[in-house]
Amino acid sequence: MAYLGLPSKTYEILEKYDFNFKKKFGQNFLIDTNILENIVKGAEIGPDDCVLEIGPGIGTLTQYLCESARQVIAVEIDKTLIPILNETLSSYDNKLIINEDILKVDINALADKYNGGKPIKVVANLPYYITTPIIMGLFEAHVPLHSITVMVQKEVAERMQVGPGTKDYGALSLAVQYYAEPKLLMIVSANCFVPKPNVDSAVITLVNHKEKPVNVENESLMFDIIRASFNQRRKTLTNSLSNAGLNGITKEKILASIEAMNLSPTIRGEALTLEEFAHLSNLLNK
Ligand code: SAM
Repeated sequence: MAYLGLPSKTYEILEKYDFNFKKKFGQNFLIDTNILENIVKGAEIGPDDCVLEIGPGIGTLTQYLCESARQVIAVEIDKTLIPILNETLSSYDNKLIINEDILKVDINALADKYNGGKPIKVVANLPYYITTPIIMGLFEAHVPLHSITVMVQKEVAERMQVGPGTKDYGALSLAVQYYAEPKLLMIVSANCFVPKPNVDSAVITLVNHKEKPVNVENESLMFDIIRASFNQRRKTLTNSLSNAGLNGITKEKILASIEAMNLSPTIRGEALTLEEFAHLSNLLNK
């Protein structure tokens, strides 16, 4: 069977169904079979794996996943793509296509039903307008995850890997690094998609930590602190946190905790490492 990711095959399907790309759904389809092969290789998909794909489009990446995995669950929001997927993937009986918004799907329930609650692998060429909520949602819902291998904007892949002292450092960097080990697999030129996006892209794998790199007593408090620090990143840490009114924690307690950590009272949140955010949240949790 011809690969859907061959440009001629993709164009043939788009024409047959008279498909119109919807910008609001971040539709940029991959038309490069090398990149597709390398995504599946990088995600290390094997015959025992249950894979969740977010946004299968016409089934280009799904096809490769169906050939390598035991079970593929593909969640697509655009109902006009469902009849196309039913045709393009008709020869695979290890797929489940769900017409839903991924942000509304109970992924824990899917992992339970189709993988006995064991860790699943997420693989996707993500719709860029909701990259952060998708990734944070997977982590914060504590979905049993082995890894997430995704195409994202190149700049977002960079943001996931940096530490303090860079302008790209933020809540996403800290969340990714708390839950997983990020590894950049490849940079992908805009020419590998139809229609061509305005930005270059990158494929990144986030392999879930077996053990968290820091000890945190109250994860949700730590992430509230992180979000508050970066919401007002030009303000001092003390002011950002006291303005946020977190759990009624007083300015005095914030100052005392910062002092107990031997940090300057005028330090900004953007200067703190993951270890320091963990330490601060444990002090403020007392
Ligand atoms: N996987 C295909 C490929 O690589 O060619 C398509 C990738 S395209 C960048 C993103 C896909 O995500 C589109 O098919 C789009 O309709 C779908 N999508 C957008 N928002 C979504 C959402 N909230 N839930 C599920 N799918 C979504």
